[in-house]
Amino acid sequence: MKVFFVGAGPGDPDLLTVRAMRLLKEGEICIYAGSLVSPAVVALLPETADLYDSAGMTLEELEAIFVQAKQRDIDLIRLHTGDPSIYGAIREQMNILDRLKIDYEVIPGISSFQAAAATLKSELTAPEIAQTIILSRTSGRTPMPEAQELEHLARTQATLCLFLSVHKMGEVAAELACWYGKKCPVAVVFHASWPDEKIISATLADIAVKVAAAQIKKTAMIIVGPALARDIPVSKLYHRHFSHGYRQAEEQSGGGQQ
Ligand code: SAH
Repeated sequence: MKVFFVGAGPGDPDLLTVRAMRLLKEGEICIYAGSLVSPAVVALLPETADLYDSAGMTLEELEAIFVQAKQRDIDLIRLHTGDPSIYGAIREQMNILDRLKIDYEVIPGISSFQAAAATLKSELTAPEIAQTIILSRTSGRTPMPEAQELEHLARTQATLCLFLSVHKMGEVAAELACWYGKKCPVAVVFHASWPDEKIISATLADIAVKVAAAQIKKTAMIIVGPALARDIPVSKLYHRHFSHGYRQAEEQSGGGQQ
């Protein structure tokens, strides 16, 4: 018997890994985060499967289901939205499983920041402009470690992907504008890959008004940074004068640094 922490991806079942799909189709017991995991993914489980929504459950109640699955000697699927390693609260569950001597495995999933970038048709990195992507959030009931406050992250000018923060859009945009400038592009993607997906593209100056008008208060990804602009330098990787380990430049002029 094993527990599989499965990444449910952002919502569209087509974005599941093949392994996740196979496990779900054969699943007998599944605990899923009902507040975030898309119903279309949960629907892949057989009708006969025992389903538990973790939204209203305590850790003790989760433990009781782990114990029950162990007694029945049946694998259990623990379905987490996106990728389980990002704000998944899996560590505390793994601690319980270690104590119960239950084996477990993690199946990665496409995170919502990746789904949002795909929806936006954006590259999150840009030569000379953004070579770093930061995944973060604003403080909620979980406080931010001081050195990781938004201000410190913004100083890097990296592409910033903010989870769990759209309800504070006004505050976030005002703070970021001090570092990225008011004209910096920002996008909010609500329910990336769901049928009711919404995209708001704006600048830090007007994003808050647009998000409020669209009544987006949760389950949205905020992506900020100059990499989102279209009129920026592009990579030299495919340039005919750029040689690298896999291709010789057509006319060598000036070496081929990576
Ligand atoms: N493990 C998840 C994140 C869980 S935290 C992942 O890798 O995506 C929950 C936050 O993720 C939400 O508040 C929202 O910011 C983001 N999120 C989850 N699903 C999303 C989706 N389909 N579209 C946009 N944002 C989403």
